[in-house]
Amino acid sequence: MGDGADETDATDCAGSLKAVLLGPPGSGKGTQAAVLSQQLKVPAISTGDMLREAVAAGSELGLRVNGIMAAGSLVDDGTMAEVVRERLARCGRGGGFLLDGYPRTIPQAETLERILGDAGYRLDAVLLVAVPEEELVRRAVARKRGEDDREEVVRQRLRVYREKTAPLIGYYRGLGLLREIDGHQPVAKVTEQMLAALGLPA
Ligand code: ADP
Repeated sequence: MGDGADETDATDCAGSLKAVLLGPPGSGKGTQAAVLSQQLKVPAISTGDMLREAVAAGSELGLRVNGIMAAGSLVDDGTMAEVVRERLARCGRGGGFLLDGYPRTIPQAETLERILGDAGYRLDAVLLVAVPEEELVRRAVARKRGEDDREEVVRQRLRVYREKTAPLIGYYRGLGLLREIDGHQPVAKVTEQMLAALGLPA
């Protein structure tokens, strides 16, 4: 998702699907979030894009997270809770969303449940975009968009994913929300599988 995509999509909250896209860095979640957002009329909310915008704007939040992001580490759960709570409130009661990049830790998943629960809602589904690790490294080397694609940063982000984020797979499976998608396929095929997993026509 490019800069500002989140702002444009934010005006369109007609749909009510509430879903999380889960997957390692380079799995293509952002691409799928953008496509599904159009089709399902729900905003794609990328916490990575929101933080990058904050960094570009030089805001207090941006200054706080800049170094953490450049190192491939995670911004603390408390900061992310504020960012996400504020962003979800903008879609109003019952408005749907596709979350890309949040939650990334078990405490973040618990926070999300609380935010939704307080409003009387719950998640409809968690779509796991599965891609083998060799393919992720290959994609990272091919795309090289800047600082955060340096090899050691890519490795750090994959390590953080394995340690902090991958436990969410079991967590959401336990809640009966997990749908696993094969992300090692052409973009359109992945989208098709996602729609099927949501029980929607392609
Ligand atoms: P990807 O390239 O894997 O899609 P993102 O764009 O989602 O990565 O995120 C980029 C960086 O922003 C992360 O490496 C992390 O430093 C920070 N970040 C984004 N979302 C979160 C989150 N939910 N918790 C902590 N840090 C986050």
